[in-house]
Amino acid sequence: PATLYVVATPIGNLRDITLRALDVLAAVDVVAAEDTRTTKHLLARYAISKTLFALHRHNESALFAKIAGLLSQGKTVAIVTDAGTPAISDPGGLIVRFVREQGFKVVPIPGCNAAACALSVAGISNPHFLFYGFLPTSSGPRRRALANLKPHPYSLIFYEAPHRILECIGDMTEVFGRNRRITFARELTKVFETIHGCALGEALAWLEADSDRRKGEFVLILSGAEPPKETELSEQARSTLQLLMHELP
Ligand code: SAM
Repeated sequence: PATLYVVATPIGNLRDITLRALDVLAAVDVVAAEDTRTTKHLLARYAISKTLFALHRHNESALFAKIAGLLSQGKTVAIVTDAGTPAISDPGGLIVRFVREQGFKVVPIPGCNAAACALSVAGISNPHFLFYGFLPTSSGPRRRALANLKPHPYSLIFYEAPHRILECIGDMTEVFGRNRRITFARELTKVFETIHGCALGEALAWLEADSDRRKGEFVLILSGAEPPKETELSEQARSTLQLLMHELP
C-alpha cells in the first residue's frame, strides 16, 4: 500500500537484475522511468507490462503532484533510471525526499551500481574511497575540481563520457602527475568490457593506441594521495634533532 520503491536496474547485461526487483516491478501499479523506451525494453525481457511515465532528468519536481496523487490513492509506484541505482549521478533524490516528507513509505530495492562494480575489480586495497561522479565538462572548472581532490588519501571514483575521456585524462595527468595509478573500467557487464590499470603517465598513450578503447561508458578510479612516509621528519623535528645532537658528548 502507498509505497515508493526505488529500484536498481542493470548497467548493461540485462540479467543483472535481482529477483526482488523483478517481483516489485511486476507488482507495482505504475513505473516512473527516466527513459520509458529503455525501461519498456527491460520489462519486455521479463514479460512485464506496466503503465510507465517519464521521470525527467532535469525536472523531478514536475512529477511531485502526480506521484503524491497516486500514493494518496493507495497506489504503489516504482522509480527506475536508465541504468544502475537511481539517485546516484541520476534523478531520484528529490522525489524520494518529497515523498518521505509527504509521509509515505520509501523502500530501496538494491542492485547494480557502476562505481561499486568498477571498484570490485580495480584491485585496490585502500578501504576508503570518494565517489565523485561526473566532473565539470570544461577544462578550467575540471582542473579546479581535480586540484581540490588532489590531497585526499582516498581512491577517487569518477564517471566520464567517451567524448571527453582524452581531455579528462589529460587534465588528470596535469594535476596529479604521472605516477598515480588509474583504472579504466569500460563497458562493464557488456560485450566490450575492458578493465585496464596503469600509471597516469601511461594512460593517454594507452587510450590513443586504439580508438575502441575510447568508446562506451567509463568509470575511472584514481589511487589516493600517498600518506607522508613516517621516516620523513618535518623541518621542525629535523632542526630540533640537530640542536640536540650538538649537546651529545
Ligand atoms: N545510476 C548509475 C549507477 O548506479 O551507476 C549511474 C548513471 S550515470 C547517468 C551514467 C554513467 O555511469 C556513465 O556515463 C558511466 O560513467 C557510468 N556507467 C554506467 N554504466 C556503465 C557501464 N556499464 N560501464 C562503465 N560505466 C558505466
